[in-house]
Amino acid sequence: MRLGKVYISTKYVVDLDDKSMVDEAKTCMFEDITNAVKYDELINWIKVKEDNSLSEADIPEFLKDEGEDKIEDETVDVIASGYEWECPHCETLNNEIELTETVMCSNCYKHFNITDFHHAYGNH
Ligand SMILES: [Zn+2]
Repeated sequence: MRLGKVYISTKYVVDLDDKSMVDEAKTCMFEDITNAVKYDELINWIKVKEDNSLSEADIPEFLKDEGEDKIEDETVDVIASGYEWECPHCETLNNEIELTETVMCSNCYKHFNITDFHHAYGNH
């Protein structure tokens, strides 16, 4: 990682002991920036510069959050580890580790044929 900064580049060298010169420079800079915004030129003032005196902790949070939803390069295998079904007799929710032709309710011990099965998907 190379650290650097994005900044607006504008400066006037002044005599700090001359208060009216400092005020004049501040007024000029304000007008310059206002004009730059007005004429859509402020983007040209924005500079990018490498700066080794900075640390990663100086990066503002709102910039770091940018990559939060990034999808990684690796892929995963999804393994269904069970099947749920609701007993039509006693409404008990049963879990099967593997699918067989019939299922038996863990509560009322009645047997049922399986007619169809659905995959549960998330909303994404
Ligand atoms: Zn049952």
